[in-house]
Amino acid sequence: MKTIAGFDRIGEENAFAVLARAGELAAQGKDIINLGIGQPDFPTPPNIVEAAIKALRDGQHGYTPATGIPPLREAVAADLHRRFNAEVNPDNVIVVPGGKVTMFSAILMFGEPGADILYPDPGFPIYRSMIEFTGARPVPVPIREENGFGFSAEETLSLITPQTRLLIVNSPANPCGGVTPKAEVDKLVAGLAAYPDVAILSDEIYDQMLYDGEKHVTLLDYPEIRDRLILLNGWSKTYAMTGWRLGYSVWPDGLYDKVRKLAVNAWSCVNAPAQFAALEALTGPQDAVGEMLAEFDIRRRLVVDGLNALPGVSCITPKGAFYAFPNVSETGWKAKPLASALLEEMGVATIGGPDFGILGEGYIRLSYANSAENISRALERMDGFLSRNG
Ligand code: PLP
Repeated sequence: MKTIAGFDRIGEENAFAVLARAGELAAQGKDIINLGIGQPDFPTPPNIVEAAIKALRDGQHGYTPATGIPPLREAVAADLHRRFNAEVNPDNVIVVPGGKVTMFSAILMFGEPGADILYPDPGFPIYRSMIEFTGARPVPVPIREENGFGFSAEETLSLITPQTRLLIVNSPANPCGGVTPKAEVDKLVAGLAAYPDVAILSDEIYDQMLYDGEKHVTLLDYPEIRDRLILLNGWSKTYAMTGWRLGYSVWPDGLYDKVRKLAVNAWSCVNAPAQFAALEALTGPQDAVGEMLAEFDIRRRLVVDGLNALPGVSCITPKGAFYAFPNVSETGWKAKPLASALLEEMGVATIGGPDFGILGEGYIRLSYANSAENISRALERMDGFLSRNG
C-alpha cells in the first residue's frame, strides 16, 4: 500500500532496539547490565503514585480539557516561577503525553519541503527523524567535545539560512551530558535578533539534572524571544515517570491555539489520573528529586573515573543529565560495532554514538541510571573486553 513519502524517511530511537535485544539476551539467561536506555532506575516517588490512585478512586475517569486540567497548568506556571522567577501564563501551558509530543508538534508545525530546521548533532534522534518525516531539510548543529558538549552560538548562527524556520536547542543535553554556558546562550539569543522569523524549540527536559553547582539557564529568561519560544519540559526524568507519558510545553500566544487543535485531533488529553499525579509531583515534597540527583552524582563520578581508566577511552565529566559520552576513537573500534560487541559478548548495553547523529562516530553513550554496583561490574567487563580486543 502506498503511504506518504514521510513514512519512508521516518527513523526511530535505537535505544529501544537495544532495550529489546538486551531483553532477549536476558530471557536466554544472560546476565545483562543495561546502560543503554535513558530512564531513571528509581521508582516514581510514592506520594505521586498515591495521587494517581486517589484520582482513580475519586472518579477522575473522563476526558479533561485538551490542554490539561487547569490546576496542573497553574502548577506548571508556579513551578517555573519558583525555580526561575519566570513569568508564564498558565494559558500558554499545555500538558502533553510525553516530552516527545512537544517536539513532534513543533517540528510538524514548521517542517515542510523547502524549510530548514536546525537541530543538535549528536542529539536526541527523534529531532532528525521528525524533521525528515516532514520533508524539511535537517541541518545539524555540531555539538563538540572541545566545547564541553555545549553548543557554539557562533556556529549555530552561521548555519541559519533564509529558509530556516525552527532552531532546536537542548541543554542539559542527551546524549553527551553537556551544559551550554550562560555566556554562549546570551550570545545565541543576541544573534537571533537578526532572524526574527526563526522559531526556537528549547528542550529543557533535564533542567533539574545539573551537577557541580551548575545553574540551569532557561530560554524563558530572555524576554526578547518569548514570542517565538517553545519550551519543552516534563516529568519523565525529574520525577522518574517515563512510563506515565507526561510532559508539558509553553507556547507563545501566536502558536498556542494551533497546538491545542493538534491535541484535540490527535490525543484529546493526557490520561486524567496521570495529570493528578503530575500535580502532586509539582506541589508535593521535592525531596526525592534531590535524593535521586545526589545518587546520580555519585554514579557520574564512578562512571567517568572508570571510563578514563579503560584502554583507548577518554571521557570528559558531564555536567548534566545522566549520560556519559566517552571518546572511544583510540580503541581501534568504530562506535556501533563496539556497542554491539559489548552487548553480545559482555552483556553490557550501551548505545553507539552514530545513533545520535553523524558527529557521534568515535563515541558511545552510557546511561548511568543504574546501580553503582552494576556500573562497576559493567566497567570491569568493558576493561576485560578492551584489554583483549583493543
Ligand atoms: N528530550 C530529550 C533530550 C530526551 O532525552 C528525551 C527522552 O529521552 C525526551 C525529550 C522525551 O521524553 P519523554 O519520555 O517525556 O517523551
